[in-house]
Amino acid sequence: MKLLVLEGDGIGPEITAATVRAVGAMNHRFNLGLELETADSGLVSLEKHGTTLTEAVQEQARAADGVILGPCDTVVYPDVNDGGINPSSWFRKNFDLYANMRPSRARKGAPAKAPDIDLVIARENTEGFYADRSMFAGSGEFMPTKDVALAVRKITREGSRRIADAGCKLAMQRRKKLCIVHKRNVFRMSDGMFHDVAQEVAAGYDGLEVEDVIVDAMAALLIRRPESFDVVVTTNMYGDILSDLAAELSGGLGLGPSINAGDDRAIAQAAHGSAPDIAGQNIANPIALMLSAGMLINWLGERHDRPDLVEAARRLDEAVDAQLAEGTAVTPDLGGALGTDAFGEAIAKRIAG
Ligand code: NAD
Repeated sequence: MKLLVLEGDGIGPEITAATVRAVGAMNHRFNLGLELETADSGLVSLEKHGTTLTEAVQEQARAADGVILGPCDTVVYPDVNDGGINPSSWFRKNFDLYANMRPSRARKGAPAKAPDIDLVIARENTEGFYADRSMFAGSGEFMPTKDVALAVRKITREGSRRIADAGCKLAMQRRKKLCIVHKRNVFRMSDGMFHDVAQEVAAGYDGLEVEDVIVDAMAALLIRRPESFDVVVTTNMYGDILSDLAAELSGGLGLGPSINAGDDRAIAQAAHGSAPDIAGQNIANPIALMLSAGMLINWLGERHDRPDLVEAARRLDEAVDAQLAEGTAVTPDLGGALGTDAFGEAIAKRIAG
């Protein structure tokens, strides 16, 4: 099996190196037969090839079984016509990666603000307010005059159905609780449809407990009773925002993994960004990207009926738990003094056993 690794920008090269170290240890210990190949992406690619994501890399990604994508400093990218393709957006749109699963669990030893949090945000990933990926052609954001800017939000019945279904399936494997987050009191048609479709889908799952919460109240409830949520299904932007909040409650953004999955493809990507403020200092926390790679390997294992891949992903998760439980052998964001590279090495050693 081939995995394509794209480093991205900012802390990307540092956290992908640590992640590759951990995946290498999994590969070796469980004899997984994973082939890792790397290619240029982001600002390095822009400098060398005139675009942040070349057509050759797009093809390489299509030919691979999965992609590990480092964070991209998209805010400094030039316009798409000048080579500034947002790789996250490109993959989500072109590979139809409609389900962005973002777990947040407080792990022993991590400085969790919500010690009992253990939830997954199932975020719709291809529509909503994300203007650069939500349209078949053109952009959902435009300026009729120099002083008027408009953004169109797209919600579809099918988009709502498939993320609701992915959320329900996951909830049935966990604590069988689904929370539908929306703002249908204001967006009566768009969020109204999302809510109704999600309720219809959930009604097809026997034994699933369902509640629905308006998004602004959800921001408060996530802090007031985080332990009460299991799987939270929501639209694109609400999920993006709430998942950063949930990651922070579990101990920090550096702990928030995610997988972007469609019916045929999946991409591992940390929930956080390229953290330019700490780039190049060997202090970034690689856990989020490592666990994202673990989620991808687990997804491949379930899809291809490969228990060895599932077992390897579990081993990585346990290695992270064990390392955190030890207390101080972590990166500075978690209160330790370990470098990104030394942390990667420590996890690789634990996986090797
Ligand atoms: P950010 O997530 O990069 O950083 C927010 C804060 O969290 C910063 O203080 C940063 O130092 C810290 N942080 C983030 N990841 C960390 C880690 N692994 N270890 C320790 N600390 C960590 O958000 P931002 O500063 O708003 O965005 C920076 C760039 O990233 C922007 O260009 C933005 O567009 C981009 N971005 C990309 C993605 C992606 O590629 N999926 C996601 C979000 C933001």
